[in-house]
Amino acid sequence: MQYFDFRDLKLSALGFGAMRLPVIDGDDNRVDEPVAIEMVDYAYDHGINYFDTAWGYHGGNSERVLGRALARYPRESFYLADKFPGYDVSNFGKHEQIFEEQLKRCGVDYFDFYLMHNVCELNIEQYLDDERFGTLSYYIEQARAGRIKHLGFSAHGNFETFMRFLEAYGDVVEFAQIQLNYMDWEFQNARAKVEALQERGLAIMVMEPLRGGILVGIDEERMAPLRALRPDANDVEWAFSFLGSIDGMGTILSGMSNMDQLRENIALFDHDLALSEEEQGVLLELGRKLASAKGVPCTACHYCTSHCPKDLDIPRLLELYNEHLSRPDFAFIAPMALGAMPMEKHPSACIGCGSCADVCPQQIDIPGALAHFAELMGE
Ligand code: SF4
Ligand code: SF4
Repeated sequence: MQYFDFRDLKLSALGFGAMRLPVIDGDDNRVDEPVAIEMVDYAYDHGINYFDTAWGYHGGNSERVLGRALARYPRESFYLADKFPGYDVSNFGKHEQIFEEQLKRCGVDYFDFYLMHNVCELNIEQYLDDERFGTLSYYIEQARAGRIKHLGFSAHGNFETFMRFLEAYGDVVEFAQIQLNYMDWEFQNARAKVEALQERGLAIMVMEPLRGGILVGIDEERMAPLRALRPDANDVEWAFSFLGSIDGMGTILSGMSNMDQLRENIALFDHDLALSEEEQGVLLELGRKLASAKGVPCTACHYCTSHCPKDLDIPRLLELYNEHLSRPDFAFIAPMALGAMPMEKHPSACIGCGSCADVCPQQIDIPGALAHFAELMGE
């Protein structure tokens, strides 16, 4: 395992993201705990020391399961990151209640890393209005009390919003977690965010290195220019190597859902990951092509699902929508999958309320996409 220095700590270059733990019967709230614990053990035994969870992951069960798994190890032998769920603005003002519950769920009395989660257009005013909501003040108080060792933030929003937050709180926070991968380098202006963090000397933690799986399983035709450069490297290695080439790179969080993914990722981090300039150029060209492919950039983060009054499995529907748009040769898949769902879970059940889109970090027009999907399905 590769490590990097953060203050006086040595953090593993690969972090364990507990956002896509294995689940039972496809139910995102029912974590398959024995398998998840086996994965945590494997990660720990192979040098991963950074574990990342959040209030909303798996309906709160990510915190509980990860907490139970890590409780079997000495507290100082791992670093645990958790986050304030600012993606739901009704949580502003409930900082204490949520923080105390998070400590309880995780079974710890401090967090090594704590993040103000998903700073974006939807909540930037709340985050910055410290007089009214007291967000920053509360976490500074917890840091003074030793209950937060390092304070940071995560951001999915646009660059302007990101900079507003950084300019206001850049002297207080120690790190930022951003969506970073070779597709978003230009598509979501991740490059400008990286440069702003580098200028301020803040550590960069990475989320969505594989963009929720969009950068995995790329077809051979698209992979051909990369294969010509490195015949043996697969799409996952290319994606991580891109990140390994960036100065000041911190822990890369990958939300792994099974042992095979975990083993493959850990094996890659056994050696230095880096690309030549030529390789970066070819990879960024692939990123541009993928960004312009048909469909919507859903990362299956599930932030939206608890906001849907119709209880639709939005990520699954968008996955089918993307599949349908991008692979006309497999046009039977979406109708077949929908055929197995009750009508009240179909895209046509969406009432267009927009609650989901308000919290989507990828700023996807979800009701628009579902309406289009329903139309394509003749519903
Ligand atoms: S717009 Fe549709 S999918 Fe989104 S929350 Fe409303 S009903 Fe659910
Ligand atoms: S639609 Fe947006 S919020 Fe919902 S799972 Fe996809 S990326 Fe996440």
